[in-house]
Amino acid sequence: MKAEIISVGTEILLGEILNTDAQFLSAELSEIGIDVYHQCVVGDNEKRLAAAVDEALSRSDIVIASGGLGPTPDDITKEVVAKQMGEALVMHEESLARIRQYFAKTGRVMTKNNEKQAMLPEHCIVLPNNNGTAPGCIIEKNGKAAIVLPGPPSELTRMFTESVKPYLQKRSMSKLYTKTLHIFGIGESNVASELTELMEKSADPTVAPSAKTGEVYLRLATKARTEEEAMKKMSDTEALIRSKFGRYIYSDDGKNFPETVFGKLLLKKITLSCAESCTGGLIAKTITDFPGSSEIFSEGIVTYSNEAKKKYLGVRAETLDSFGAVSNQTAREMADGIRKASGSCIGVCTTGIAGPGGGTDEKPVGTVFIGISSPAGTEVRKLSLSGDRGKIRYLTTLNVFALINEIIDKIY
Ligand code: ATP
Ligand code: MG
Repeated sequence: MKAEIISVGTEILLGEILNTDAQFLSAELSEIGIDVYHQCVVGDNEKRLAAAVDEALSRSDIVIASGGLGPTPDDITKEVVAKQMGEALVMHEESLARIRQYFAKTGRVMTKNNEKQAMLPEHCIVLPNNNGTAPGCIIEKNGKAAIVLPGPPSELTRMFTESVKPYLQKRSMSKLYTKTLHIFGIGESNVASELTELMEKSADPTVAPSAKTGEVYLRLATKARTEEEAMKKMSDTEALIRSKFGRYIYSDDGKNFPETVFGKLLLKKITLSCAESCTGGLIAKTITDFPGSSEIFSEGIVTYSNEAKKKYLGVRAETLDSFGAVSNQTAREMADGIRKASGSCIGVCTTGIAGPGGGTDEKPVGTVFIGISSPAGTEVRKLSLSGDRGKIRYLTTLNVFALINEIIDKIY
């Protein structure tokens, strides 16, 4: 993690004071393992300070600006840093009360312009000043943090030691760990409605669903020092999610559904072949995209016409005549046919209406039959999909992988 220091004050530039704040900060930062590659000094000038802040933010994770938090109009540090971080200043009532208290305690009269010191970025971590009036603040954005501290050394050192150091230590040691559960077979709104409470209540780890075509990814995220600690923090939440959706969760290692199924086929040395109609080779393409697929994939055939279904798969003419190509019966014979012809452990097939034409009242566009033939027998499933041609073909393919996955889990 890289930090850099911007000391604000014309007095430093004129040589009137020595920049002991930067010296203190640099020494402290190096002690907690944070690299400091740059320090700079800028006068109380809005334009030059803004440029320095921008430059520092472009190359460092943490930017610490000190000085210029006073009540007078030439104290502009907080205003400029907030602006460069895209934050507006608002009155922070708690700080205002603290400043009032400070004046009362020290028996001094508080002037109207001291109120300016209680104006803070709308979204920030407020750093209380236990040796003076001006609070400091930390503004976090896009993984970066800008920290604004008062100039007087007694205020800066105390604020750093009490608030900034613990913050930086936590930040430098912990990183964000995520685990994404891939869910197939249940829609995003179902997942979200089951998890509303969890998503709202669980601040750590956070739980966020995102919808993919035909799938939902549920992302758990937490900050921790080690992967082990992160997994421990996520385990209860994950167990709760698994208790609700266990059978729909097919992976938690970032792999998509076909890749997950391919991994299982490879591991268990289960050979596969496919006979495709409406997917036109998409299943074969998907599986052969993976290196090493030749070990388990024996053949894929696109039997688009009835003739081809009869010729290569042995689908009976009566079946096609009585039930049509898009039917449970044809799918059954296709799956059995390809398994027999190829001699592989599992044979799968697809037959359906991908659209946009070809639908009827009885079999509208999106009607698809997928079949699987395995040592466990033959199973056919009817799908009613929606979407354009590409989406229907893609969803059919995903469903075939889901079916293969079920059979592998059941019998191998
Ligand atoms: P104030 O409310 O006192 O104006 P400030 O946060 O606006 O505080 P400055 O006005 O920049 O800070 O500085 C106030 C005094 O703090 C300076 O006169 C100087 O004595 C000390 N000081 C400021 N910056 C530094 C620095 N970088 N190193 C050492 N001392 C500093
Ligand atoms: Mg000042």
